[in-house]
Amino acid sequence: MSDCIVGIDLGTTNSEIAAFVDGQVRVLGPGETRMLPSCVGFSTAGDLLVGEAARNQQVLYPERTIRSIKRQMGSQEPVTLADKTFTPQEVSALILRELAEWASRVLGQPPRQAVITVPAYFSDAQRNATREAGALAGLDVVRILNEPTAAGLAYGLGDGSRQTALVYDLGGGTFDVSVLVIEGDITEVLSSHGDNRLGGDDFDDLLAAHLAKAFHDRHGVELGEHSAGKARLWWAAEQAKRKLSAEPDVKIHEAALVIESGTPLHLDIEISREEYEGLIRPLIESTLDSTSKALRDAGTTPDALDAILLVGGSTRTPLVSTLLRERIGLDPSQAVHPDLCVALGAGVLASRLAGHAIERVLVDVSPYSFGVSHLGERGGVPYPHCYRPIIPRNTPLPLTRTERYSTAYPYQTAVDVQVYQGEDEDALRNVLVGDFQVEGLTPTEEPNDILCRMHLDLDGILEVTAVEKRTGASKHITIANALTAKSAAEIAAGQQRIRELYESRGDVLEGWPAPDAPDNIDEDIDLVASALPAAGRAAASHLLERSRRLLDQMHEEDREAAIELHDQMDAAIAAGNTSELQNAVRALEELLFFVEGHR
Ligand code: AMP
Repeated sequence: MSDCIVGIDLGTTNSEIAAFVDGQVRVLGPGETRMLPSCVGFSTAGDLLVGEAARNQQVLYPERTIRSIKRQMGSQEPVTLADKTFTPQEVSALILRELAEWASRVLGQPPRQAVITVPAYFSDAQRNATREAGALAGLDVVRILNEPTAAGLAYGLGDGSRQTALVYDLGGGTFDVSVLVIEGDITEVLSSHGDNRLGGDDFDDLLAAHLAKAFHDRHGVELGEHSAGKARLWWAAEQAKRKLSAEPDVKIHEAALVIESGTPLHLDIEISREEYEGLIRPLIESTLDSTSKALRDAGTTPDALDAILLVGGSTRTPLVSTLLRERIGLDPSQAVHPDLCVALGAGVLASRLAGHAIERVLVDVSPYSFGVSHLGERGGVPYPHCYRPIIPRNTPLPLTRTERYSTAYPYQTAVDVQVYQGEDEDALRNVLVGDFQVEGLTPTEEPNDILCRMHLDLDGILEVTAVEKRTGASKHITIANALTAKSAAEIAAGQQRIRELYESRGDVLEGWPAPDAPDNIDEDIDLVASALPAAGRAAASHLLERSRRLLDQMHEEDREAAIELHDQMDAAIAAGNTSELQNAVRALEELLFFVEGHR
């Protein structure tokens, strides 16, 4: 263990420590996030607080607490905390000391050597201050590593071939974008741009201002004079912001945010992701301007990029990926946890320096996309099997994502939720992995919102829940081994087999399998299991698809008959009525036989 070297991301908002443990590079630390808030303070009793505890007292005792010390590294400005004075290096050393403590609990002894990361734009003075902080914490800093290079290492770039990558790093309080060329062990930062006053905290401010306005509109009370209420509002905004990365909308409820003349005033508001994105879009647009500058300074163009790597907690905001994709035309990679990525990269270098052959970090990602089919439009006509992934492939596990859908027609009281694995916009070209029906929806004239939540855990168990938004009533299905269910090759072979079977069959209804759920699907007892066997429904859907493609070529009379049969089939599928579906399928088969034979 004497040669253990740790890798440390000493961040503006959070810091992490990684090391080689049990054959891989891991981020070490308590709790689920394994992140230490980069906050230091002294309690009113005079006790030193580092991390979460310091962050929690920040609002109440700002004079006893310091955050974002990284911004002051390299300056001689002393920091006053309660009645004590420190240099920025000393404050950083307290954070490093706490991280070393976390690591020593896993490693069995305190680490002595470390690789510490810094932003690419850090000056010599700032780098030296970082080294000094390490020394003060009892760590021999064997390497100062640029953060974008660390991200490249974590993502496994640097395998020998020459690659150009854009590292987009949006944290809590800073934004950096760098263009790197990585070849073997050598990484060159070609350009770097950024704004060290821009980050997720600004998103919180905008959302908090929006909430404060809504509170004022409702109660006529300015939050300005209520510091405790303001602090709670800011906290609520940050929580809501995180949720909006995974959910289409959130309800924010803060009971008795302010008590005015003895009356408690509550904050009650719902905000959609679109509204929130409207607030933050200008800030994200400004990061894209920096990105264009970085590309220009590097003398390169978007099409010369091999990868966009996302770093920093705020890159979980979906609008970041959307706008990057639009502007650069390349899908950003999210395969490594964006907030642990730099620490993991530092851990990779630290492990290599300690003699371990590490190429990249191992992360559990979903190798497949998952989603549900819905009614939409294809080629300008309504199509009931539209599909877009809710869980995109290559997303680190575990994860939860929610999308909003609406009922298709007035007074609809049931929906059929069909869960697919795949990427194709046409659900029928993906693999059906499970389905269930939600009944007893509130009959409404206007579209009724249904939220579909997917949770995929580390064991590959996929849980799909459909929730009627207005009542909260829900049904769910658990699909075990969703990830090991099928490989791409198996899927392709399966699709081919189905196609051949389908095309060669006499009567599609002969030999439908018995309506047993597949073994790996465990439906909640609340569920109304669909009465139609999945294979039968899939075959009927293929028939519908084939028929819709032929509509243009039919005589008017046939077209009308076909459309009527389509409606009957859709209704029979929705109601789970096997015999009606069989009748309609038979009639449509006959009609198509006639139409195809007379083209
Ligand atoms: P970092 O400086 O990289 O630790 O990033 C911290 C920032 O990421 C803070 O502003 C967090 O509020 C933000 N953040 C963390 N998780 C999420 C999320 N799921 N969606 C949006 N922002 C997030």
